[in-house]
Amino acid sequence: MATGILHIDLDALCANWRALDRLSAGETGAVVKADGYGLGLVEVTRALASAGARRFFVAVAEEGATLRKALGENVEINVFSGHMVTDTAIIRGAGLTPMLNSAAQVARHREALPDAPYGVQLDTGMNRLGMEADEWAELRAGLEAGPLTLVMSHLACADTPEHPQNAAQLAQFIAMTEGLHAPRSLSATGGILLGPEYHFDLTRPGIGLYGGLPFAAARPALRLSLPVIQTRDIAPGETVGYGGTYCAPSPRKIATVSGGYADGLIRALSGRARLFAGDTPCPVVGRVSMDMIGVDVTDLPHMPEMLDIMCPAQNVDALAEAAGTIGYEILTSLGARYERHYSGGPS
Ligand SMILES: *Cc1c(COP(=O)(O)O)cnc(C)c1O
Repeated sequence: MATGILHIDLDALCANWRALDRLSAGETGAVVKADGYGLGLVEVTRALASAGARRFFVAVAEEGATLRKALGENVEINVFSGHMVTDTAIIRGAGLTPMLNSAAQVARHREALPDAPYGVQLDTGMNRLGMEADEWAELRAGLEAGPLTLVMSHLACADTPEHPQNAAQLAQFIAMTEGLHAPRSLSATGGILLGPEYHFDLTRPGIGLYGGLPFAAARPALRLSLPVIQTRDIAPGETVGYGGTYCAPSPRKIATVSGGYADGLIRALSGRARLFAGDTPCPVVGRVSMDMIGVDVTDLPHMPEMLDIMCPAQNVDALAEAAGTIGYEILTSLGARYERHYSGGPS
């Protein structure tokens, strides 16, 4: 065994969905774009469906088609990017619900699939996806007359509760959807934590399901263990890795573990992250290579076969902080080479 092992706790994932569902005023969906935030689209969605999730969200139609094959007909699959030029056959074949983002997408959807359901995404200030107020005002009556299943928008600053843009977007969403009969959705994980006035009929958590901030109460769902390939003793003045950026100040024992930036353990972790033997931290020394990382294991009384780079002592957000990034990026960069071991979930 020379590749890292990614342990994914599907019971933790389901517990996180249930916890966010209890917090949500209405229904709770699940966002599973980017291969279920890197944890495996099929395994993640089967587990969440067994916990009770019925509405799933993906970024692009191709992800939706994969999901439909895995979950069958019993769930609703919504696509954030709406109805793109090349999507018609996929949307029809997989029975997807596009979140239409513009007048052009509305026209395309109506012409290609006149009876097929759709949602609408509104821009309330993030300026990323969705119709602007004037575009929506012009199209609203016609859209409401058809199979409109959801009207949604997205908050830009929900991970910062005191940010004034939250209230501004909420007010804009209310103003744009006053008197609407279709269900409404505004909040992802961060918005759920802002309180019930942000929830409307459906919430759309992603990161919180996978154990990441801003859902601080989440159960960690991951352990990432890297095999030790080799250890050596080095003398004071010797260096480790490319560029010789680490220089031993005293006699040190160095382990080389299997896993590197090709596995999503980005170079920004060089000299900053730690690996763990149980609760004992072992600092990364020198630069992260493509397939290997040097670790100072001098303080360990005996050498385990593997060291953990994600574990209860260093969760995904702690690792992200060491790399100067966010948990979302660490998760969605998780490498394809790891062996993924799933525990729990549907029996
Ligand atoms: C990614 C995404 C979500 C989920 O966000 P989290 O912060 O991961 O909970 C919800 N809605 C939209 C539109 C998204 O792009």
